[in-house]
Amino acid sequence: MTRRKQIYEGKAKVLFEGPEPGTIVQYFKDDATAFNNKKKGTVTGKGVLNNRISEHLMIKLNDMGIPTHLIKRLNMREQLIKKVEIIPIEVVVRNIVAGSLAVRLGLKEGDKLSRSIVEFFYKSDELNDPLITEEHITAFDWASTYEMDEIVTMSLRINDFLSGLFFGAGIKLIDFKLEFGRIYSKDEVKIILADEISPDSCRLWDLKTDEKLDKDRFRRDLGNTAEAYQEVARRLGVLPESSNNFTDEKLN
Ligand code: UDP
Repeated sequence: MTRRKQIYEGKAKVLFEGPEPGTIVQYFKDDATAFNNKKKGTVTGKGVLNNRISEHLMIKLNDMGIPTHLIKRLNMREQLIKKVEIIPIEVVVRNIVAGSLAVRLGLKEGDKLSRSIVEFFYKSDELNDPLITEEHITAFDWASTYEMDEIVTMSLRINDFLSGLFFGAGIKLIDFKLEFGRIYSKDEVKIILADEISPDSCRLWDLKTDEKLDKDRFRRDLGNTAEAYQEVARRLGVLPESSNNFTDEKLN
């Protein structure tokens, strides 16, 4: 393997310098963490599945007009992506009550929301990713009002599109997290979708049974986490041929 310069190691991904300026190689690990790193584990095959699922969803989003950082998938665990300046907020879109919303407001998981909710969290492990408002984001210059309009509009379009796409695969999109970044060209700054969209960052429930097909299986010790991710990949039609063999063989 050629030696590459590692730029950053996160909880579930590693970033390496890309072959061209302005590019990065994003490597998907099998590591899983929850509750701000308090729970740690490995889900064998998760990285391969997330790489595939995220590639599939980002290609579709790109096709319907949402600019993303994805250039192309390189192999089973890696994608070539555009280097962006990450905006330090997590955008969460919710359709059904779950997770931290249920806890924070004492609501019942599974209750339908009368309209989708967009929430913002400040990306800070030390502070436990606190919930913030657009006021904080613009006051602290994390993003401008104009950029926030773009981010919210894009997030709601992504929600509509992904809700339909998952529905077609027999899956309910309960909620999900997005990250955005800036790309600078000559005299333009553009906001594009970054990070990943996968069962690590979405809540996905089976349409008929409400069975959880996402990271809550790991968070809540429900077991069969890899199998659930595999089921999502299978329903989206993106499982590699030898679907039971998550090795690092190159796929072309
Ligand atoms: N989420 C994520 N990364 C985070 C926090 C949340 O991908 O650091 C996703 C999570 O998987 C869920 C959605 O964002 O699909 C909403 O998460 P929530 O605020 O309910 O937090 P949780 O209880 O999952 O920590």
